[in-house]
Amino acid sequence: MRTPTALLALVTAGGAVAALTIPATAVATSTTSATSTPRTGPPPVGHDIPKVPVMTGGGGAVATVDPIGTQVGIDILEKGGTAADAAVAAAAAIGAVEPYSSGIGGGGFFVHYDAETGEVTTIDGRETAPATFHERVFRNPDGSAMDFDTVVNSGLSVGVPGTPATWAAALERHGRMSLNKVLKPAEDIARKGFVVDEVFHQDTLDNAERFSMFPATAEIYLPGGAPIPVGGVQRNPDLAKAYRELRTHGIASLHTGRMGQAVVKEVQNPTTATGVTVPRGQLTAADLAAYKVNHKAPTHTEHNGVDVYGMGTPSSGGIAVSEILNLLESFEERTGRTIGELSEAEYLHWFSEASAMAFADRNRYVGDVPGVPTAELTSQQFADERSCLFDPDTAQARPVPFGSPDGAYDDSCQPAGTSALPRDGQSTTSLTVTDKWGDVVTYTLTIEQFGGSGIVVPGWGFLLNNELTDFNFAPLTPGVPDPNLPGPGKRPRSSMSPTIVLQDGKPYLTAGSPGGATIITTVAQIVAGVVDRGLSVGDAVAAPRISSRNGTEDAETPIFATSIGDELRVKGHVLRHRPVIGNGTAIRSLSPTLWTAAAEPVRRGGGSAAVVNPR
Ligand code: GLU
Repeated sequence: MRTPTALLALVTAGGAVAALTIPATAVATSTTSATSTPRTGPPPVGHDIPKVPVMTGGGGAVATVDPIGTQVGIDILEKGGTAADAAVAAAAAIGAVEPYSSGIGGGGFFVHYDAETGEVTTIDGRETAPATFHERVFRNPDGSAMDFDTVVNSGLSVGVPGTPATWAAALERHGRMSLNKVLKPAEDIARKGFVVDEVFHQDTLDNAERFSMFPATAEIYLPGGAPIPVGGVQRNPDLAKAYRELRTHGIASLHTGRMGQAVVKEVQNPTTATGVTVPRGQLTAADLAAYKVNHKAPTHTEHNGVDVYGMGTPSSGGIAVSEILNLLESFEERTGRTIGELSEAEYLHWFSEASAMAFADRNRYVGDVPGVPTAELTSQQFADERSCLFDPDTAQARPVPFGSPDGAYDDSCQPAGTSALPRDGQSTTSLTVTDKWGDVVTYTLTIEQFGGSGIVVPGWGFLLNNELTDFNFAPLTPGVPDPNLPGPGKRPRSSMSPTIVLQDGKPYLTAGSPGGATIITTVAQIVAGVVDRGLSVGDAVAAPRISSRNGTEDAETPIFATSIGDELRVKGHVLRHRPVIGNGTAIRSLSPTLWTAAAEPVRRGGGSAAVVNPR
């Protein structure tokens, strides 16, 4: 296999193919159960791969939250795989090394640019509610909303997983490789294990209490009753079996086969520790069999000379990112100033005002319901009307009212009403890939919270999602229609925002991030950072973030604790300190064959960017 120069360093430091090989001495110490062992012998390779946050070159590029995930993607590109092949392989690998964020038991959104046709298409692999769900499914007999955490850690929160179906659809439409081939690295990682780092250890600690409610989960992640220490090896032979099952029997095993039977059994009657009872779920074999990915048109808006494509409903991501960018453009028009000439504090004020307004509209109008006014919400005319509330010197009081995307716009500035705010989560993973043919993929996938429902399917090693808690349990505001209430076969509203930006029909930038509802603000900031503020893609991914989702405004330390935060407070912003917002990945196309891939340098321990042929 050809080994590019810069990656050679990774190989010799324990990367590339060797990255997936745990030394025999370490394997030999493995117990026979689906658990882990303390690390013995030489360090398992793959975990000394340097975390390179930015890399430029050709032949294809990959950015993920994890060096092993990125390396798996690069390996597939080197073997002649397409961006879709590499994205699926990397996603599956992330499901093995970051199993609390995504995996077989979850769902996600896959956005693809085809260099041959110039077309941007999407795959909606969102989890789906059982056919028996109804509007009051998360309410107590007295009509009040059920306790949120009780629902999270239960069968009731589990939607039909859409991730394996997304992988199959992506390969069928855009791939050259089989599921059998691209899931092999993930199977190997799950079997051989990975070295636990501080982030994984802390994530396990944070979830230890709820993981201990489910013996199949505790057996893997709390062997002997406690998280594996930093430096220990986390193995999951049951997950390896699940990947092998998908490789050899295809996704039918989940939708109509024995893996699916195990899922249904567990959701309907979760296996809990002695003395623990949790609500049962309603998912049936018929729900699993009926699952289909959807292929909806992407959202689109033009913004300062580029075309921004994103994910439509049931995600609110594409719509809200579009509206934020359109509002920023309207503010330019109203003030006669460009985003590029603003001070950092002025820019963050503009951005924060735009995102608060976009969230007001998102909360009021977007969900998995018929008639979402996507074209209006993403139109410049609607943003121009909405922007009459903008004051360059003073923050609007939160929550700001939602607008009227009715197609009749003027400057009357009549707010249409106000609704309360839904809750935000903060999990998920996102990855971006380009290939030597110029295809582009951005893929965000999740099991909702870190650790999902907390329920591992016994014998299959993967965590089930708690995606159905993304529905609003009860209408947010009495008298105001809520598009995100539960319903039969409905998909909960998402914030995931995999985004592809074209210029003159050619790839310019692709980006995505985890982070619950902050995904929308993170992705919009990365896009505006590159397009409007002139940042390099690495700097845009690393830049300090603010996230106003129409309630309290979250700000990272370099904003919150500096003169920038002080300037914002003078304008009336009420900031809340949030040390980490998002964990972005992005790729900037410098030419049809040259890319800069970028991942986080610091947040959550840093991500990993690589190219096939470094420049
Ligand atoms: N469930 C969330 C969504 O779809 C993603 C999970 C998270 O990042 O909190 O928006």
